[in-house]
Amino acid sequence: EINLERIEKKVRTTCPYCGVGCQIELLVQNGKIVRSNGVEGVLPNDGRLCVKGRFGYEFVHSPERLTTPLIRKNGKFVEASWDEALDLIAHKFNSIKAQYGPNSLAGYASAKCTNEDNYIFQKFIRTVFGTNNIDYCTRLCHASTVTAMLKSIGDGAASNSIEDFETTECLIVTGNNMIETHPITATYVKRGAAKGMKIIVIDPKWTPLVNYSTLWLQPRLGTDVALLNGMVREVIVNNWIDHDFIENRVEGGMQTFLELKSLVDKYTPEYTEKITGVPAEKIKEAARIYGTAKTAMVATGMGMSQQVTGTHNVFSLLNLILVTGKIGKERCGIDPPRGQNNVQGATDVGCHPAMYPGYIPVANEENRRYVAQVWGVPFENLSEKPGLTTVEIVQAANQGKIKGLYIMGENPMISDPNLNHTEQALKSLEFLVVQDIFLTETAQLAHVVLPAASWAEKNGTFVNSDRRVLRVRKAIDSPGEARDDWRIIHELAARMGKPMPNYSDEAEIFEELAKVTPIMAGISHSRLENHGIQWPCPSPDHPGTSTLYLDKFNTPSGKAKLFPVEHVDQSERATPEFPYILNSGRILYHYHTGTMSRKNKALTEFINHPYVIIHPNDAQKLGIKHGGIVKLTSKRGSLQTQVRIADEVLEGELFMPWHFSEAQVNRLTRDELDPYSRIAPFKLSAVRVEVVSD
Ligand code: SF4
Repeated sequence: EINLERIEKKVRTTCPYCGVGCQIELLVQNGKIVRSNGVEGVLPNDGRLCVKGRFGYEFVHSPERLTTPLIRKNGKFVEASWDEALDLIAHKFNSIKAQYGPNSLAGYASAKCTNEDNYIFQKFIRTVFGTNNIDYCTRLCHASTVTAMLKSIGDGAASNSIEDFETTECLIVTGNNMIETHPITATYVKRGAAKGMKIIVIDPKWTPLVNYSTLWLQPRLGTDVALLNGMVREVIVNNWIDHDFIENRVEGGMQTFLELKSLVDKYTPEYTEKITGVPAEKIKEAARIYGTAKTAMVATGMGMSQQVTGTHNVFSLLNLILVTGKIGKERCGIDPPRGQNNVQGATDVGCHPAMYPGYIPVANEENRRYVAQVWGVPFENLSEKPGLTTVEIVQAANQGKIKGLYIMGENPMISDPNLNHTEQALKSLEFLVVQDIFLTETAQLAHVVLPAASWAEKNGTFVNSDRRVLRVRKAIDSPGEARDDWRIIHELAARMGKPMPNYSDEAEIFEELAKVTPIMAGISHSRLENHGIQWPCPSPDHPGTSTLYLDKFNTPSGKAKLFPVEHVDQSERATPEFPYILNSGRILYHYHTGTMSRKNKALTEFINHPYVIIHPNDAQKLGIKHGGIVKLTSKRGSLQTQVRIADEVLEGELFMPWHFSEAQVNRLTRDELDPYSRIAPFKLSAVRVEVVSD
């Protein structure tokens, strides 16, 4: 029972779920959070919250929280003291390093932890382990988007602010179920639609945003490059291109444009229809709406990025944006809404196998010298060799090359592709340490489990989807002996014989972080008291940057680059043995691997079980009823799940949410990787469907 008169304190912080970064006020009574309110008058949410932000805080008080370190002894976890657990970890990691070398060790950082936690974690991996084998689940969501954007326009983050989704004239939303995955961003879009904004949804699956759209293009899974090349051809043929922009702001000007023109020439509306299944008239109409709008934005999501052609998908999207000059101006640009609360920040502060904080390449000697000097470590100790990515770490473990792994707040036993392969890899490790707030599916395989503080028990910062650095503030104490992530790492560094400086608090960590992260050089905790600041913010008197590229792109030449790319058929296709194509994604009420959202009564009451969506015609062919149980089998594995019959998907295609451990979608997915970004194709797996019970 909430008694507002007995509220002990109200603590302003940032929502721990998606990358919108909504500002919330937690009301605390008897040491427990009893309510979460949206904070009015500040961006990005101005008081609004979705169901997760409003009701999703219960998990911090779950009786399932880890409260003491656990050590596996004779196959069972036994409670241990911090001293015992940390000494054991230090001894094991040091022994592995001495025997097999630093590159036999690796770490997974966390998109759920603060910038300060992640900064200390990557510093630990680089200076204590002595390797760049550090990555995390961003590799599995927007790695291809970031790769393409970095090459084409120079930054992998959103070019604009969330508010621009309300005021631009036209918006393309491609492969992004925004109303469910970024609900508060979607409120700006809905308000824009009410004022006449034209919305083009590109998605093989129906999403609620279709109800607000002017046009819905429903391409077959894996045909995005063809569709976008078809749209590029239409804007060229109809002269909806921006000649000045191409001449002055695109590398190679008209010459590179002509290369693109020549490549897309064959993507006539009819040819594009044949590949994508989208009617030629709709392709023309979409190109007209976007090409003739004075201002236009694009939101691109996992549907585009989580494919073996992910980087090429985003290149083809950027080609459309660049030839029409719809970037580098107010209310024009590209935003990839980020899935987890701090997936943007964790990469910003260096949890990347090839880059230090601020996207500074590790391979460059000058960079290493500067970072070594700020960190106070010998230059020779920093490896110039880029490390392994998430899926590569798993593959290397399976090959016996990675022997020890330190996982902070990640659950690859649900989130990785081809889970049977991941399970085998984690079980083969000589030593696995998992630091988390719950005994996740991954933690259950660990040799040592360390109990960490949740977001509500921490101070620090997150970075949201529009590059806004936001404060996280401690509202309650951690349960039992759970500790802040960065303090655990800091203590472990000392026990491994490589102590870090004695930071008095998170603000002091941020001070050091700002010294090696040029995009955040002007930001400090004290500047973030009332409002977040959008990077780049190069100096303490700089207000932050809401729109990127107004003067120049962040490439070495200052100009953007076109990357003409061809459509290629997917390497995995429907066959007589596996005749359906399975897509996977998220739903409103749950989040990532479900470790947090599934421990909230308010959220699980909406839905708490896995299901697969099947088109009514396919259901009839298969003789399946709504609510029946089917077995799905791919070349990698199988699972059983309940059936939901709906025409939200195309015939021959299926959709499953991936939050549920009872039916792990990733038992079916592939670990074949996009060659440029090393992302896995979560969106496209060939499967067969067998009826278990109708
Ligand atoms: Fe939290 Fe995202 Fe919902 Fe905002 S939109 S309340 S950040 S889950």
